[in-house]
Amino acid sequence: MQKYDYLIVGAGLFGCVFAHEATKAGKKCLVIDKRTHVGGNVYCENVDGINVHKYGAHIFHTNDKQIWDYVNQFAEFNNYINSPVSISKGKLYNLPFNMNTFYQLWGTKTPEEAKTIIENQIKEYGYKKPKNLEEQALSLIGKDVYKTLIKEYTEKQWGKKATELPAFIIKRLPVRYTFNNNYFNDKYQGIPIGGYNKIIDGLLDGIETKTNIDFFENKAELTALASKIVYTGKIDEFFNYKFGNLEYRSLRFENTRLEKENHQGNAVVNYNDSDIPYTRIIEHKHFEFGKQNHTVITKEFPEEWTKEKEAYYPINNEDNQNKYQQYKALSLKESNIIFGGRLAEYKYYDMHQIIASALQKVKKELS
Ligand code: UDP
Repeated sequence: MQKYDYLIVGAGLFGCVFAHEATKAGKKCLVIDKRTHVGGNVYCENVDGINVHKYGAHIFHTNDKQIWDYVNQFAEFNNYINSPVSISKGKLYNLPFNMNTFYQLWGTKTPEEAKTIIENQIKEYGYKKPKNLEEQALSLIGKDVYKTLIKEYTEKQWGKKATELPAFIIKRLPVRYTFNNNYFNDKYQGIPIGGYNKIIDGLLDGIETKTNIDFFENKAELTALASKIVYTGKIDEFFNYKFGNLEYRSLRFENTRLEKENHQGNAVVNYNDSDIPYTRIIEHKHFEFGKQNHTVITKEFPEEWTKEKEAYYPINNEDNQNKYQQYKALSLKESNIIFGGRLAEYKYYDMHQIIASALQKVKKELS
């Protein structure tokens, strides 16, 4: 007899939101994860009072009041605003691209002065419809910003030439003619007080979970346990890489504890130059305005993805998208399996988007 209505494979945000809502509607769920903990990539490890974002920095932001209210059910949020700085050829610049950045680049003090330079550079370039990230950046912000703050960072992060990358990646970054270093345009932003684990624990409260379980190693028994499966792992792996593997970008994190109060004065410092192998240094305590005598920093090294490594970023170029469509067509034929999340949908999702997508899918499923 099937014991559960849903077996949820993967205890990241998608799986946890789905499980929470399904349980609230009276369904019985089992959530499994191959890692030794739940929470997926938002999981934090507490190092003497500092929440270390183990799988990369996560900053919550959304424009959607419903999503904001949803996460606030589980934790209160602080008023952290992400304002990264970037180091390029020994000089420090504010991000995202705004009046501070333009002053640091050209000494321009007014929006008119900055706009004149940028518009001339865009005109000089003259692209109409950008076909790739480089063209997108040059037609959005001109060559100086592109060369100083985008090209090397992007190529290091993705391991591909900017001309081989999709344009949408750079559209994430705002361009502003105000002195405003807020990295995001969204109305709501912050870090959960007490860390992301609090949200995950709230979502999974009262739900059976099992960690350290590999779905593929126990597929037959696990599948027999539930009427339906919610699968949040890699879609190509689910279908045994039958059309070849999709490409991902992996990361390696180097964590260091330092016995000093403040190392870099900001949570996020980006390193643009190609001869520095990491893209950024995160100093975790600044996400929560920590006052400890120690600090923990993480260097983030982009790496080529292989099957044993964590798949962090989908590389959504045309070849991979075409391949993904083949997998997606197969997934649509699986009537008892719901595919969702960054890896199963092969999509560069942020947290708020994952939550919205899980809420939508679970609603459809339960209606
Ligand atoms: N980016 C850049 N320079 C920077 C930071 C970001 O050119 O200093 C570009 C880069 O192409 C990157 C994209 O903007 O892939 C998105 O960066 P973001 O920090 O939003 O990505 P995350 O890794 O946090 O999802």
